Amino acid sequence: MVEGCDAMRGVLKLFVVVVLVTLITFFSGCGRSQDVFYYQGILFEGFDPMKHQPSKEFGKYVRLEKVILSPKQVKSLKRCVDLLKERNLLFLLEYADRFVVANSPYSFADKPQMIIYLDKEKVTLGFSIGDDWKNKLLNSNLNLMENSGRFSFKGTPDLPNLLRIILHETGHLVEYDKLKFNWKGKFVDNVLNKDFVNISWDRKQHWKDKEGFSEKLQSIYSVDALVAFLLWFQEESSFFSLSSSMGMNEDFAEAFVYYFLSKEFNYTIDFILDDSVVINNLQKTNSFREKKFKFISEIIEEGGYK
Ligand SMILES: [Zn+2]
Repeated sequence: MVEGCDAMRGVLKLFVVVVLVTLITFFSGCGRSQDVFYYQGILFEGFDPMKHQPSKEFGKYVRLEKVILSPKQVKSLKRCVDLLKERNLLFLLEYADRFVVANSPYSFADKPQMIIYLDKEKVTLGFSIGDDWKNKLLNSNLNLMENSGRFSFKGTPDLPNLLRIILHETGHLVEYDKLKFNWKGKFVDNVLNKDFVNISWDRKQHWKDKEGFSEKLQSIYSVDALVAFLLWFQEESSFFSLSSSMGMNEDFAEAFVYYFLSKEFNYTIDFILDDSVVINNLQKTNSFREKKFKFISEIIEEGGYK
């Protein structure tokens, strides 16, 4: 009888503990998954096939399944909003109608609908812009894989790549809306975008990039050659990152990113080899980069953004 009572009391205690823990996690907000939330007036949603129909050109690879945002993902998105708000850049997020987190192999800006879709895997604070540089470098040049433990890229301040993605996709919306870049088929220049695209792209050669950037990038076979390439990039390239040369749209979106990171966050990125800084500030100002920044600052001003 006594034993039975003890067992009962044990079960009761356990029950009380479980209820308390559940209540505490519920009210503290941690451990709560959600499919929609507003933060600082910005709308974030998990993908819902009943609600979202991405345009065919972009949405081909999006998995048509509901996404529930984990507390960690919610925190990551809020952190990026806070970072922009601290620098009075919240107005940039208002450019998109909403942000939708989806199971998709990449993030993209659905330009006709003005919706930004974020790849669920990238909604994290654990991957920095520096990590993304290294990732993109290794993706475009497999020869470097063998020595990849020797080098890295370090941003100051250290910023999450998610912030770069959000700015980059916003840049695509601006490029579509303000500069009338086309978003499918052949590139057509116009009075709004020609000053920008003429900096890095050759109209007479079917808009090939003027620097032979990807050829240079792909013909690196050693760490020494990588250092030589990055020194050239730092001094002479008109691009701001390794993915800028993928096309005019990417060029614009990346210039857009680094305009804000450089002006408002004082962001610089260094190349580290064998634990020491070998190249300081990879995106040093030169006349081409200056022209791109000037172009972007003019659109921001005249767009009545601020
Ligand atoms: Zn892009």
